[in-house]
Amino acid sequence: MVKATNEQKKQMSLYYQQHKEENKIRHHEYYITHRKQWQVKQHTDEERLKARQRNAELKTKTMNLYGGKCECCGETEIDFLAIDHVNGDGNKHRKTFKGSIYQWLKKNNYPSVGFRVLCHNCNMATRYGRICPHKRKGEQNVT
Ligand SMILES: [Zn+2]
Ligand SMILES: [Zn+2]
Repeated sequence: MVKATNEQKKQMSLYYQQHKEENKIRHHEYYITHRKQWQVKQHTDEERLKARQRNAELKTKTMNLYGGKCECCGETEIDFLAIDHVNGDGNKHRKTFKGSIYQWLKKNNYPSVGFRVLCHNCNMATRYGRICPHKRKGEQNVT
């Protein structure tokens, strides 16, 4: 067995040292590039969050202006509520503008006719001119 000479040992530790530095630099570069990507992502996330908050505020304001609850069943949970087109031409109307209905209503000074608040259940149930089960139950109680 050949014993490593002092010279060889020195070279080995030198090799190790050099590679340690290289690795350190590589890790640093990795960190720098990914930190940049992370900061960019962080920035856009923040923008998106702010936009979402603005939309939520606008939605709350709009809902409150239109009564703040489902006209059919009285649901008040804002997440369940949506603006409904009274005469049912929502799809046609939605094609005439970009963005949300809340922005459109704001731009048009919140028209008092043609729109009402419905929860998603009642909204779905009254599509195509159908009668919401809530109302049907009411009718059954009357008769
Ligand atoms: Zn409802
Ligand atoms: Zn209903």
